[in-house]
Amino acid sequence: MKSRKLLMIPGPIEFEPSVLRAMGEVTTSHVAPNFIETFSNCLGFMKEIWKAPNGQPFILSGSGTLAMDVAIANLIEKGDNALVISTGYFGERFKDILNCYGANVTFMKSSLGSCVSLLEIEAELKRKDYKLVTMTHVDTSTGVIVDPQPIAELAKKYNVLSVLDGVCSVAGEVIEQEDWGLDIVFTGTQKAIGVPPGLALLVASKKAIETWSNRKTPVQSYYSDWKNWLPIMEAYENKKPSYFGTPAVNLIRALEVSLKIILDEGVDARVHKHNKYAHAFRKSIESIGLKIIPVSEKVASNTLSAVYYPENVDGNQFLKHVSDYGVIIAGGLLADIKTTYFRVGHMGSVNTCDIIAVLSAIEYSLLKTGYDYTQGKSLETFQKLI
Ligand SMILES: *Cc1c(COP(=O)(O)O)cnc(C)c1O
Repeated sequence: MKSRKLLMIPGPIEFEPSVLRAMGEVTTSHVAPNFIETFSNCLGFMKEIWKAPNGQPFILSGSGTLAMDVAIANLIEKGDNALVISTGYFGERFKDILNCYGANVTFMKSSLGSCVSLLEIEAELKRKDYKLVTMTHVDTSTGVIVDPQPIAELAKKYNVLSVLDGVCSVAGEVIEQEDWGLDIVFTGTQKAIGVPPGLALLVASKKAIETWSNRKTPVQSYYSDWKNWLPIMEAYENKKPSYFGTPAVNLIRALEVSLKIILDEGVDARVHKHNKYAHAFRKSIESIGLKIIPVSEKVASNTLSAVYYPENVDGNQFLKHVSDYGVIIAGGLLADIKTTYFRVGHMGSVNTCDIIAVLSAIEYSLLKTGYDYTQGKSLETFQKLI
């Protein structure tokens, strides 16, 4: 019998056995021919998944937050104006990182569960001379999805760099980096990319690299500076050995396996699958009277759902019963409403059985906590929709 529980949080997620096996392969030298090949493949695969054939990919050891740091450290100089479009917790993090590098931050916060309107964003871009605008594709604290395309278009119109936090979206939501004109799109491995935590993945546009190379002042971070990493990425892409900091050999080998799985399935098919499961999952929990944080299905993400506990149901008790049943889901993350909701990740290699197990665990927990609903209703709804 499987000893572990089903991990259905918004990262880390359940990983493919072949990805986990790749982690356990013998560690080779970071300049061994087989590893150079692996690294080069990963960089190429990233350009396909990001849909950025002319982009510059980076693979660095660190979590998704390192990718945020790299984007801001390399593009921002002290005193630059930056616009943050925030839909939750990770918008706040952008603000903190921008402040750390001396940017002048304008923080546009959406009302809970919705996005900032394009009219407001354009008015702000007109008002001030911005260097860059940031947005969180899917904010993992609220499950709200932002449409990056029109914002990237506005950014281009006002000659502003656009930075997309895709940590909870790359490989789970539609992304067309080059067509949409996004300057930076990044993620971490443990979300929809499907590899254990530890790698920060980022693709930069030509304009982003030019902006960095035309800086008047040095980058205010040693580890994040593209000066150290760009030659390494270029070398690996051209299948040449190089060294700045030892790459995470085993994780990068696992990344190669996972990116290959995604590309074999097809990115578009994969995104479509995410969309189908997300929609069916939410309809199912709504059929037993639960409510989600996003104000409409239109702004609800493919990769996770943020759901309010029913009235009079204690969150800790609820999560404990779900865990006793064998499923791990996440509590709230957004400070003001942390204790009022839970989050379910449904990304990566998620399948029908996973969703059925989560719904069943949620129903079991609601039964235990005395919530009044029709037993089996969410499962019935899911079976009809899928
Ligand atoms: C998880 C996440 C991050 C942070 O990534 P870490 O790997 O935890 O550092 C940033 N942004 C979003 C949208 C995320 O979901």
